[in-house]
Amino acid sequence: MLEITKESIEKAIEKARITKPKVKVLEFRRYAVTNKTTGANYEVKFYKIGNQKFGECNCKATKICYHIGASIGAHIVLAEQMHTATA
Ligand SMILES: [Zn+2]
Repeated sequence: MLEITKESIEKAIEKARITKPKVKVLEFRRYAVTNKTTGANYEVKFYKIGNQKFGECNCKATKICYHIGASIGAHIVLAEQMHTATA
């Protein structure tokens, strides 16, 4: 589990913009990310503990990877929708 910081996620989002992996929502906070070139599938999960956000990916990366960067866009949209839905 890796802490999501502004710096780390910005780099990951930037890389995701270049590589453009396919993101599929499995459930809230759980995403399947597919590398369109290699066809490799990865699973990304998000956690929130207090005010800290964490991300987890089952690829080999030891820091916030672009799979997490690609998923967070979908995650933010979904989280906002859930917020407005209960309001
Ligand atoms: Zn990854």
